[in-house]
This record gives sequence, C-alpha cells and structure tokens, in this order.
Amino acid sequence: MKIGCHISIAGGIDNSVVRAVELGCNTMQIFSKNASTWREKILKKGEVESFRESLKNSNINPVFIHTSYLVNLASPSDVLYFKSINAFLGEMKRADLLLPDPYLIIHPGAHTGAGEEYGIQRIIRALNIILEESADLGLKTMILLEDTAGSGTHLGYTFKQLKRMMEGAKDRKSIGICFDTCHAFAAGYDLSNKEGVEQTLEELDKGLGLERLRVVHLNDSKYPLGSRRDRHMHIGKGYIGLEGFKVLVNHKYLKDLPFILETPKHDEKDDLKNINLVKSLIQGTVLCVNNNFKY
Ligand SMILES: [Zn+2]
Ligand SMILES: [Zn+2]
Repeated sequence: MKIGCHISIAGGIDNSVVRAVELGCNTMQIFSKNASTWREKILKKGEVESFRESLKNSNINPVFIHTSYLVNLASPSDVLYFKSINAFLGEMKRADLLLPDPYLIIHPGAHTGAGEEYGIQRIIRALNIILEESADLGLKTMILLEDTAGSGTHLGYTFKQLKRMMEGAKDRKSIGICFDTCHAFAAGYDLSNKEGVEQTLEELDKGLGLERLRVVHLNDSKYPLGSRRDRHMHIGKGYIGLEGFKVLVNHKYLKDLPFILETPKHDEKDDLKNINLVKSLIQGTVLCVNNNFKY
C-alpha cells in the first residue's frame, strides 16, 4: 500500500524527504512554497538537486504538490484571476523541476458571489489557458482537481461539477482527480458506512471515471454529513469514523492508490499515530492501536 501525509518543507524542500521517511511514508505531499503568500519561490539549483537525490534514494513515490490556497481560478476579478493563472503556472514549473512524475493538486476555485455557472466557466477558461501555456513550455505536470467541501462559494463539491470542469478542458489527459474524504463527506457523500462508500465510489466512477483518480486525501471530518464545513479530523475521531475508513482503505477501487493524510498536527506524534492507524486498518488489527489523540 501507498501511504503518506502532508509534510512540511520548513528549512528547505529537501528536508521533507527525511521527515517522510522517519514517519514510515512511501508517498507524500508538500507545498513547493509558502502556501499563504503570493510571493513566488525561486528554487536554488542545489536545493532541487539535493531534493531529487534524496527522493531517488528513498522509497517515496509518487510525490504530490498542493497548490497555494490563494490561487483562485474562478475569481471574477480579472486582477486576481490572471494573478492566479500565473501563480499556478509557477507551481507547475516548480513541480516539473522537482519531480520525475509531477502531480499538482488544486481546489478548483470560489466564485465569490458571481454564481456557480459563471465560476465553472471561469475555471474551464483558466484550465485551457494553463494547459496551452504548459504544452508550449513542454511541462509534464498533471493537474489534479480536488473535490471540495463546498464551504462558502467553493466549487467542485459535486462530481458533476468536477466532470464539467474536466470535460471543458481541451487536453483532458493532463487532468486527473484527487478525492478528499473529509471534503466529500462534508459535501454530502456519506462515507461512514459500507453502503455509503459503495454508492459514493460508484457515483465517482460513473461521473468521473476511476482511471482519472490518482490520489486519495484520507481525512476524517470534524463536522457532520452535508455540513459544507471543511475541518479535517484525526482518522476515526470524526464523523466518518473507523468503520467508514476500514471500508475506504480496503475498497477495490481505492486500495492501490496513494493515501495522503492531512489530519491535524497538534502534537508531533499525531502524524505517526494516524499513519499507523491506517496501516492497521488495512491489516485488520484496529483494536491494538493506541490512538489517543489530544485535540
Ligand atoms: Zn486540498
Ligand atoms: Zn480540507
């Protein structure tokens, strides 16, 4: 199985590999810059080489890069819209530099009051500008659209919306899907029991195609089904619960995909506890695991 979590790049991108190995990850997700500023990051040659080298010497593969939260490809403001497109292209270039098989995950965007239809069209246009530019530059990064919780005016909270975005893109082979369990549950897809998981994954397959699914963000939800609130929780400690995760991680549609945890990090042992818990769910030994989280 492929399991890892979102790893900090504090002190340099190359430090992330060491941290991931220590946690027993064989896949991981990182930001390639400070995710909450617009400031671009120029990667130093030495930093890139050392990152690629440590990655090659580890068993961590694939690596996913998550886009900065400021990027909004649905923004009705032209200034923010084009700033977002440029920032996204910057993310793609960094992903290409850093990774042999680059994947870049993005929340599709928020229409901020301009309406869902407007927002979806805006995202499609942005994707096409980005895909054209990235083809010109010869970039090989695959864009993964992530399902959202649908909080505020965020789009991509139904498989139907994600499907429209994918279908609107002229070069569909460069676009895939990242499935976040907390977001899906908060958006109204029940993942807390076997029937709910089956129904959701069938819907995902019919709507988006399983072959498009490249990674699962494995997070429990702090808020109930359909709450449209995006707050992640430790595995088994939220409303999805252990029963749901047991079905999810062993499901034939998901079990061979990379699982990335983005669970809370209140204590430095939290990631390790969550990772070990997920591993134990797969081995079916859940009762032996100590998951006394502080939260
Ligand atoms: Zn995300
Ligand atoms: Zn989330």
